[in-house]
Amino acid sequence: MLELLPPPPTDPLWDLTYEFGTDDRPERLNLVLGVYRDQTGTTPVMAAVREAEIRLAERSESKEYRGLSGNAAFNRSLLDLVLGPGPGGPADRAAAVQTVAGSGALRLLADLIWRTRPGTTVWVSDPAYVNHRPILEAAGLKVRPYGWRDAEGGFDTAGVLRELREARRDDVVLLQGCCHNPTGVDPLLDDWEALAESAVRGGWVPFVDLAYHGLGDGLDADLLATRMLAERVPEMLIAVSCSKNFGLYSDRVGCAIVLGASARSVRHAETALQNAARTLYSMPPEHGAAVVTTILEDEGLRAAWRAELDVMRGRIMANRADLVAHLSALGRTEQARSLARQKGMFSMLPLTPQQMLRLRRQYAVYGTTSGRINIAGIPANRIPRLAQGIAAVLDT
Ligand code: PLP
Repeated sequence: MLELLPPPPTDPLWDLTYEFGTDDRPERLNLVLGVYRDQTGTTPVMAAVREAEIRLAERSESKEYRGLSGNAAFNRSLLDLVLGPGPGGPADRAAAVQTVAGSGALRLLADLIWRTRPGTTVWVSDPAYVNHRPILEAAGLKVRPYGWRDAEGGFDTAGVLRELREARRDDVVLLQGCCHNPTGVDPLLDDWEALAESAVRGGWVPFVDLAYHGLGDGLDADLLATRMLAERVPEMLIAVSCSKNFGLYSDRVGCAIVLGASARSVRHAETALQNAARTLYSMPPEHGAAVVTTILEDEGLRAAWRAELDVMRGRIMANRADLVAHLSALGRTEQARSLARQKGMFSMLPLTPQQMLRLRRQYAVYGTTSGRINIAGIPANRIPRLAQGIAAVLDT
């Protein structure tokens, strides 16, 4: 049977990562994957996570099955974290289902859209996170791209709003809540307000992907747009990842949130998500969810986690500022200015695929062919040489 399989495409990001693994130049720098690295190049286990794991190891008595929605306390904690605590808010008309990380949440919500209306069009930014389109199409949905950046490299407010005027009622628009991957370009709060108005007027449903909250302007600031949308629109889908902001990449923890106009529709959506999970993997893994819940339910651990997250964010911001300063000093002010406006773990270098290849060949710097680099992956002492490399390939 397998002889019939035609050669399948491979994942370009992982291909680059494997190529990096075979590069024996000591100065090689991997800025391809979206993982936080500290100054030593390590992706650390956060201290709050380690402490939560110790507490869990001491007190856990059973590994019995959880329900189809996973860990109920985790789901409650994530609803509070994302939508804000307390009664009377949008969390009152929402349900959350634990998923296999952010990717699992995207897929489960895509399945929910398909189960609701198989012909639904999902609007996806161009450029988008590499896995958005494949996940949506794998669930059987139609994808339509919409622009994201203007000619100056900022968010294209007028262009995006103009395109979304063509969205039909019950179309779904995928938005990243903060720290847009791959561009680092986010709408300003006014732009988000205009997007909310467009959704209400046009009847399209926002589908917010939250993967980097806490790594842009701060945890609450990064959630502001999502919370505002949730207050304004009748229906909304949210895919949450705990991979980056808890450093739980390999534990695969996240959740799918649905907001509905009635308790009945939310209940139905929750059951549809459970049904989708049942046929994909039955139940999500418990460990990461238990760690996150232990942190969020304990005041001290929660404060420690937030402080650690602030340190990570500070390192990313300092790295970006330093790269901007070095590029400016090399006379690359235009490129420096556009990098300075970007936020979060990624930045998009204004380089062609050929220039990115040259950066890899001549400077051992690995970014994606589209120009995306992981700002959090640069050791501070490597920034001057990285800036020199960028400036040099810009001339070629
Ligand atoms: N969404 C965005 C925008 C991402 O960048 C990522 C990962 O890089 C994900 C979702 C999925 O994250 P994970 O499945 O590792 O939680």
